[in-house]
Amino acid sequence: MVRIKISKTLEQKIRRGYPWIFHYQIKNKKIEGELGDLAVVYDSKNIFLAIGLYDPESDIRLRVLQISKPVEIDSIFFENRLLSALQLRNSIVADGTTGYRVINGENDGFPGLVLDRYDSTLVLKLYTAAWIPYLDVLSTLFKNKISVKRCVLRLSRKVAASKTISREHSEGTLLFGKKITEPIYFKENGIDFQVDVISGQKTGFYLDQRDNRQKVRLLSEGKSVLNVFSYTGAFSVYAFSGGARSVLEIDSNPIALAASRKNLKGCFINRNFSMEEFNQITGDAFDMLSKLESSGQRYDLVILDPPAFAKRKKQKMTALNSYTKLVRAGARVTKKGGILFGASCSVHVQSDNFYKAVFLGIDLAGRGYEEICRSGHAQDHPYTFSEGEYLKGIFCKIV
Ligand code: SAH
Repeated sequence: MVRIKISKTLEQKIRRGYPWIFHYQIKNKKIEGELGDLAVVYDSKNIFLAIGLYDPESDIRLRVLQISKPVEIDSIFFENRLLSALQLRNSIVADGTTGYRVINGENDGFPGLVLDRYDSTLVLKLYTAAWIPYLDVLSTLFKNKISVKRCVLRLSRKVAASKTISREHSEGTLLFGKKITEPIYFKENGIDFQVDVISGQKTGFYLDQRDNRQKVRLLSEGKSVLNVFSYTGAFSVYAFSGGARSVLEIDSNPIALAASRKNLKGCFINRNFSMEEFNQITGDAFDMLSKLESSGQRYDLVILDPPAFAKRKKQKMTALNSYTKLVRAGARVTKKGGILFGASCSVHVQSDNFYKAVFLGIDLAGRGYEEICRSGHAQDHPYTFSEGEYLKGIFCKIV
């Protein structure tokens, strides 16, 4: 088994539950470990500290599976982890939701692995190729413990580029079950959605925004809504289901906008939306917001849910400036007394800094605000370490 030595400071961090060891933090330089090997970390007194998955292709060289007490990493170990994760989600299913996250990576004890469920389809997404040798064990476990028709494998860009990926485990392949021949539907808070689990972003849908969408639904009655970065239109459908008067979507991706139209049709089969009620703009959010502003368009509810502006730590400042710029543009098209919702999914942007950037944006737009509430991940996206808490949201009344 691979042995790893780390500093005393990092030892403390790992003991408190931090799940990553980066390559530059490893003290013994010559390690003959292969992708997916189990690696053990001993503390300075040579006592077992942790065991994890070794990934020589990633900056995160070790992802911790277990701390303090040595255990056998076998199918029983994974089964226990899965059962705890499933238990945590029991109440979600009872709420009329069949699309939710079953395993949220490190935060559910499966570092670098996400499992999303869309009704009877599972989507397993890997952020480290170190899980490849365990796919058979995991597939069997999912098949036996979760009653679904199939499981699709999705790979992060880095994992897909790994030389170790065989055809049988390439992006979009089926790990088990029936081939996809029809659209995949699921429910979120009682609302029907369609999802493209093969080519959609992440695993096809942003399940983490469920609670914020529910808030949007409750705030939408009679409102004109602007949904910026609308993707497949989830916020729009919620807005209409909450009685919104109109929704305008902005997204740069025409495929996402087409999927959004499908979702809307699927939810409101008997309704024909006029252009005044529902419309879409394909283009850059910043450009389009500025056009809307100069043409005098104003909205009761503005939703700003952009992609991560800071993909790396060093982009943090630029990202904060972008959030401020975006909120400034958003606040300018919000009616007096209207509501602005802003979200950030950048891991590298901390919540306090994000909220400050939002307030600054509102201020720079020459507007005031009353904070309504702050929000984060839905319950099926728990976090156990700081990097696991990536989603920040805030609802403000713009005055
Ligand atoms: N709010 C969505 C998720 C947003 S994902 C939901 O609840 O499902 C981010 C979206 O922003 C993607 O659809 C992407 O196409 C879009 N996007 C990225 N950069 C953009 C830009 N500069 N202008 C407009 N849309 C952009």
